[in-house]
Amino acid sequence: MIDLRSDTVTAPSQVMRQAMSQADVGDDVFGEDPSVIELQEEVARLLGKEAGLFVPSGTMSNQIAIKAHTQPGDEVVCEAGAHIMNYEAGGPAFHSQVQLNPIKGRLGVFTARQVEAVIRPRNVHVPPTTLITIENTHNQAGGTIFPLEEIHRIADMARAHDLRMHLDGARLMNAVVATGIPADEWTAPFDSVSLCLSKGLGAPVGSVLCGNRKFIKDTHRYRKLFGGGMRQVGIIAAGALYAIRNHVDDLARDHQRARQLAEVLSKLPGIHINPDEVHTNIVMFGMDEQKGTGVEIEEQLRRKGLLCLPLAKQKIRLVTHRDLSDDDINNAIHTFQKVLS
Ligand SMILES: *Cc1c(COP(=O)(O)O)cnc(C)c1O
Repeated sequence: MIDLRSDTVTAPSQVMRQAMSQADVGDDVFGEDPSVIELQEEVARLLGKEAGLFVPSGTMSNQIAIKAHTQPGDEVVCEAGAHIMNYEAGGPAFHSQVQLNPIKGRLGVFTARQVEAVIRPRNVHVPPTTLITIENTHNQAGGTIFPLEEIHRIADMARAHDLRMHLDGARLMNAVVATGIPADEWTAPFDSVSLCLSKGLGAPVGSVLCGNRKFIKDTHRYRKLFGGGMRQVGIIAAGALYAIRNHVDDLARDHQRARQLAEVLSKLPGIHINPDEVHTNIVMFGMDEQKGTGVEIEEQLRRKGLLCLPLAKQKIRLVTHRDLSDDDINNAIHTFQKVLS
């Protein structure tokens, strides 16, 4: 099977497994696991922040950040397709008792002007706006990049209104590789940043939440409260360290292949995709109704050995990743041409 459903399907390589098997470990709930400490320091340095916290998932990382930045009853601004709003099981309401104020962006990108329009005045009738979240790259919008100049404009406004800024940077390294802009430039305008090691970077498990020392100290309590305190977890952290040290540059190949798939799909009749909107490793395409629904096409592709994700009635998602070979991509192209022509 050629698996284009997600970049989370990547499996640890033999060398990564070897690094994991040899990891120094300790009890991380006591803060004594040397591999976890090394990972947290290395990712914090990469992202230009004072400290980091290793957590089991990107979801927990975002939810801990929201918890640490807000009080119950606060309002959090996000994009309408944001992962924190749509794919984290209602976490902001459940864990932090905050409400979200979604802004409809274009390809996951909203403007400082749109943010300004939703910031609440301070009076007893309305919820206080306290946190702005940005997702970069944006998953549901198709791995799209949020322009850095707009992030700066939004951050300037956030500071003027005394609001915090959180970056859901689960897929930030894709933006780094696609633009050549270093990670710490992308993250400088934010109070906190979440980075996933288990997506395109290919580690089996883990995300790191970064921020200043005081913030990360607070987040330790919430990680414990959410059940995410782990013991000899250096075994896993070693895989994440291997990924961040060795796999970042390989994302360029994922991007080039996604672009290639998009170009091929754009030439097929009744298929809708603009290759220029494929910024990184996610390809979203739509199809005319007479071609069938996303679910029907997914089934036809699956019978030919290709897995994809139907995301809406007339929409399918493909994601390229490091476990694909050149043959896989060529075979996928032939399968699309056969099934969709
Ligand atoms: C994958 C992802 C997450 C969190 O994922 P987990 O599956 O919980 O690790 C958060 N935000 C974005 C943008 C993602 O792509």
